Amino acid sequence: GSRFQVVEQGPPIEVFQLNRLFTEDSHQNKVNLTVGAYRDEKGKPWVLPVVRKMEKQLAADDTLLHEYLPVLGLEQFTNASVSMLLGADNPAIAAGRAFGVQVLSGTGGLRVGAEFLNKHLKYTTFYYSSPTWENHHLVFVNSGFTTPRQYRYWDEKARAIDFDGLIEDLSNAPENSVILLHACAHNPTGIDPTHEQWEKIADVMEERKLFPFFDSAYQGFASGDLDRDAWAVRYFVKRGFELVCAQSYAKNFGLYNERVGNLAVVVSDASLVAALKSQLTWIVRGMYSNPPAHGARVVATVLGDKQLFDLWRDHIKQMSSRVIQMREALRAELIRLGTPGSWDHIVKQIGLFSYTGLTQRQVEYLVQEYHIYLLKSGRINVCGLNPSNIQYVARAFHDAVTK
Ligand code: PMP
Repeated sequence: GSRFQVVEQGPPIEVFQLNRLFTEDSHQNKVNLTVGAYRDEKGKPWVLPVVRKMEKQLAADDTLLHEYLPVLGLEQFTNASVSMLLGADNPAIAAGRAFGVQVLSGTGGLRVGAEFLNKHLKYTTFYYSSPTWENHHLVFVNSGFTTPRQYRYWDEKARAIDFDGLIEDLSNAPENSVILLHACAHNPTGIDPTHEQWEKIADVMEERKLFPFFDSAYQGFASGDLDRDAWAVRYFVKRGFELVCAQSYAKNFGLYNERVGNLAVVVSDASLVAALKSQLTWIVRGMYSNPPAHGARVVATVLGDKQLFDLWRDHIKQMSSRVIQMREALRAELIRLGTPGSWDHIVKQIGLFSYTGLTQRQVEYLVQEYHIYLLKSGRINVCGLNPSNIQYVARAFHDAVTK
């Protein structure tokens, strides 16, 4: 017998399983609306031209070595990331009370941040939105948080934020609970709080002494504007909160598999920074020792050069505009078909995703009858849509809703 006989098969990860089923499906009209990655108008992955350009430049540079990066990463990268998040002229940066740690994309930032809060501040309770990105729960529990809680976020009937529910749940949270907040383009619902709502969230969190942990996986991707998408984080900093924020470059740079991310940390006084950095160093040291260089070099070079930065901003605009166009096209097509129900939420939602409101049974029907793959929650990746498949998808939705 094997000592490994004790190991039981674990459950599949829904989004990756669906992706595999899609790949294996031989139907000619199959459509993949699952995984949160950008696709162009031909349905193909897109390497950003500015990234290709940088990679060619890096490959030709014989002076570049494969020596280890420092444990906390490339400083040029972490500084540029903090500036992008907070705005280069943010007083917190000038005061030396904001810094970054290079991490393994957004997920790595969540993991390092959560482990740090648990280990050093002894925080054990965290709140995530209902619903949220499916990995939040696991990452925090694996980081040592023992008490997962949810705050109400989505009102299924109104297809809007259950704001009263959210405020009530935060009001009842124990002091020092860590509140996970989506900086913009909430995944999976695509609906963010308004500025007034953010102000009320900050009021409650201040009063209840709760700790904000922002997850910023889509800066620039939501509105096409980097500053607008960072509004909530900047507002909390302006209000005087200490906070952390996991920044991912997977989507806005299309660097999914390079695992490029930054954990931004803002504290109330610059004198605290050295101790925090030293303890974060030990956390990273015991987890993966130090981060990879390639993606961080690409991002740091682009963020640090006015011309390349402008080029990148055009790419973000292009991607976010295509998503917005597809939202409008899908809604228009459903209206044209007379599909029952209101489809306004599709264009009100922002970011990559739409929470369509399709039921689990309708989703199963779409997969079986039409080979259209989407999460059982009804979430679709809008940029899986393109001019060649949008009519097929709209007709399928119509059929699923009316059958
Ligand atoms: N947070 C949210 C809300 C996300 O949607 C994602 C990506 N799906 C991530 C974090 C992390 O992504 P990554 O680790 O690839 O940066």
